[in-house]
Amino acid sequence: MQTYEPIIGLEVHVQLKTESKMFCSSRNAESAEPNVHICEICTGQPGTLPVINMEAVKKTVMVGLALNCRVAEFSKFDRKNYFYPDLPKGYQISQFDQPINGKGEIELVVADKVKKIGITRAHLEEDAGKLIHPAGANYSLVDYNRSGVPLLEIVSEPDIRSAEEAKAYMQELQNIMRYLVVSDVDMEKGHLRCDANISLRSIGESELPDYKVEIKNMNSFRAVFNAIEYEIKRQSEALEGGEQLLTETRGWQDDKGITVSQRSKEESQDYRYFPEPDLPVLQFTKEWLEELRRELPELPKVRKQRFVEEFGLAEKDAQSLVLNKELSEYFEQVVSELDAWLRDEPAGDRPALIKQAANWCLGQFLALLNEHNLMPEEAKITQENFAELIKLIGQGKVSNLAAKDVFVKMFETGEDPSNILDALGLHQVSDESAILDAVRKVIAANPKGVEDAKTKGEKAFGFLVGQTMKELKGKGNPQIINEILKKELNF
Ligand SMILES: [Zn+2]
Repeated sequence: MQTYEPIIGLEVHVQLKTESKMFCSSRNAESAEPNVHICEICTGQPGTLPVINMEAVKKTVMVGLALNCRVAEFSKFDRKNYFYPDLPKGYQISQFDQPINGKGEIELVVADKVKKIGITRAHLEEDAGKLIHPAGANYSLVDYNRSGVPLLEIVSEPDIRSAEEAKAYMQELQNIMRYLVVSDVDMEKGHLRCDANISLRSIGESELPDYKVEIKNMNSFRAVFNAIEYEIKRQSEALEGGEQLLTETRGWQDDKGITVSQRSKEESQDYRYFPEPDLPVLQFTKEWLEELRRELPELPKVRKQRFVEEFGLAEKDAQSLVLNKELSEYFEQVVSELDAWLRDEPAGDRPALIKQAANWCLGQFLALLNEHNLMPEEAKITQENFAELIKLIGQGKVSNLAAKDVFVKMFETGEDPSNILDALGLHQVSDESAILDAVRKVIAANPKGVEDAKTKGEKAFGFLVGQTMKELKGKGNPQIINEILKKELNF
């Protein structure tokens, strides 16, 4: 029986994609060569002055608006003082008590249920450099390319209740950043990083626990999920055993699948925050904020609603599509190809075609993309050819089964489906007179089968369908075969 409830809050860091760094004109770019995108400012030389990168500020506000945050009219930067070799100034410019974005909220869909997660704040700061520890060496190296890169920190309320919700929250944040085009959010490259705060309380308890365990160093969605699952189990076993849990920081060791204590509360630092004297405060006008709000691109939640309303998609399909920005855009282009065709063929069943297109996008297409590690637009299969195949299926010119082979070929070669159908001889026979001929032949050759179908029903009837299909070399349209057989047998 479960007696404890996990209380989880996440601190997520997003590296913003900008031309230059947060407070200088050095390039915000990765490089295999260390210390090439640096200058006097981002390496903390005495006598230099920082200048605020407005592109980073604008992107931070856009994220705030997308997360439904209250954007502050006034905000400021502060110095967070600590010493570490990857931080040459001896302090990080961050935001302490007046962040750009205050309280907000996002909605997730977890296990088909809508869950709201509060956002405490989303502030702007600068990233630190990177230490490199060569194997076996008795020294370390430092690379300041990342030093001073704009970093957005998004802090959630302790509203998350499971590892699954934590993972869904991270994925939703990543997706929103992609829709806003503010970051590449590649977790492997460290564009999206996450620390989790976890504690447990007895079920039914409403107060927050008096301790908090912070987990660091989770570099993938899988790691976030596994680390939280592990920690929930570890803490509940400790509490079961009568142990008193204390606030501490633990590191996730991915290879071993465990968290290890790094430091306790007593060792935690006092950062001696104070307002950054070298930078002006930020003040946003209502007009500017309104302008940004108008410029916001369509977000996943809105796109999902539109897919449901405009295309008649099921909520679940729409949700799966918008979870992948590129795939949802690809799908939309397939639909517009179908619409172009439907203008000449008003008899076509639009909702059925669109549903079919969604199924193929989320099924075969997504599977092949994942297998080949490709983005939708990198695939050889064009939206036009994709729509063409959906059309052929809709017209009964290719069976669903044969369409799978055609699709694989399209994915490999980029060829159009009609050519592939011709080359593979997979055209489905929907021509009624050809099917009628075959049906009549089968009826004439199988008097016993006909008798059985009349007396024994479904299964015996299936035998005649099979015989007709054989007569048509497996390419008959099963639906039409069924209809014609029934008519001929007076069913
Ligand atoms: Zn610089």
